[in-house]
Amino acid sequence: MSYDRHNVFARILRGEIPCKKVYENAHALAFHDINPLMPVHVLVIPKGEYVSFVDFSAQASAEEQAGFVQAIGAAAKACGVAAGGYRLIANNGADAHQEVPHLHVHIFGGKPIPGRMIKQEGR
Ligand code: 5GP
Repeated sequence: MSYDRHNVFARILRGEIPCKKVYENAHALAFHDINPLMPVHVLVIPKGEYVSFVDFSAQASAEEQAGFVQAIGAAAKACGVAAGGYRLIANNGADAHQEVPHLHVHIFGGKPIPGRMIKQEGR
């Protein structure tokens, strides 16, 4: 899938729409989801133009990949779920119901998470 520069996360990265920032480094940004499904629901996105993990793992530099992974850990710590536990989910493509076509990892936490939670069950 080609990258759509008008997607909402591209607009957040350009500062065209606001976000509640949790963490940022040179290669990634973490911010609160606008429609939280859990007490803590944070999104972590790479700053580069990648739709999915297939694109990102194939095309991102080693520095970008390291920066993204580092940001996921730092964001989990910054939003207070590191001690209690958290779940990471990345929806990729149509079958996974990816809504925003810019790679993102969801961090869910803040209360015990059902063992088989999917997105709709997380409310
Ligand atoms: P997906 O289904 O693509 O994995 O998840 C996209 C997520 O982006 C959803 O949880 C949705 O609430 C969130 N989202 C969509 N638009 C915005 C926005 O403008 N700001 C923020 N912070 N989150 C958004």
